[in-house]
Amino acid sequence: MLLENKVAIVTGGDSGIGRAISIELAKEGAAVTVNFRHNEQAANEVRQQIEQAGGKALVVQGDVSSVADLQKLVDHTVETFGRLDIMVNNAGMETRTSTIDSTEQDFDTVIGVNLKGPFFGTQFAAKQMIKQGDGGRIINISSVHEDWPMPGNSPYCCAKGGIRMLTRNAGVELAPHGITVVGVGPGAIDTPINKETLAAPEKAAALNHAIPLGRVGEPEEVAGLVAWLASAKAAYITSSTYFIDGGIMQGSVGL
Ligand code: NAD
Repeated sequence: MLLENKVAIVTGGDSGIGRAISIELAKEGAAVTVNFRHNEQAANEVRQQIEQAGGKALVVQGDVSSVADLQKLVDHTVETFGRLDIMVNNAGMETRTSTIDSTEQDFDTVIGVNLKGPFFGTQFAAKQMIKQGDGGRIINISSVHEDWPMPGNSPYCCAKGGIRMLTRNAGVELAPHGITVVGVGPGAIDTPINKETLAAPEKAAALNHAIPLGRVGEPEEVAGLVAWLASAKAAYITSSTYFIDGGIMQGSVGL
């Protein structure tokens, strides 16, 4: 197992990519805190699945755009499992609004969840890891849209662009403490965030056509990469983003 005796937090661990990451980290031996915002039942299902497979899990409610909730998430994890080794800042949402159409509330909500959350999640996790004195891993679930425009989803792209620089900056700052900070940038993955696109046959076909590998990805494929990045095998990787996108960012019409 890659993560024996490690302790992890996964924000938004009750759904989609976060759910798959929680289960995969536990499968590799980590004790996992599954954070949820609204859906306690889904979070408890993830906990049960982990426990039935012989793993350890804790469910903690919290809104990642609240620094008080993030501190509570770290504190509760350390009280329960004794330490923190892996912080996965995964929770995210989108408004699908353009630069012209976004309201102040659209902007503040998306930046609050998708950028302020990972920023203070990184800060609180790093403070705990520095106190422990033996390094750690911070993994920020970004997106291809940290670097690639998505017209009509402007606040989301701004937040993911911010995560790109958070990962780079914090990685450099925390390197002397043996803490690595890595971004994971998924392309189109089959989760609830994409349910409208994937439920519309024409949109789904156009999306698959745009992906060189010809299909959207599965949450478990992202989770496998995260588990590896969280392990000792990835000790020399920091301050950069790993894209897992079926090649969509490099797609070309072949002029
Ligand atoms: P999802 O909707 O299934 O999961 C999002 C999770 O974030 C949910 O658990 C939700 O409750 C949680 N969340 C939202 N706001 C929160 C808050 N304020 N506090 C705590 N939790 C909150 O979608 P997903 O696809 O699994 O998304 C997970 C991450 O992956 C997001 O950061 C998303 O931007 C990123 N991502 C997804 C895709 C994709 O195609 N699915 C592509 C690139 C990046």
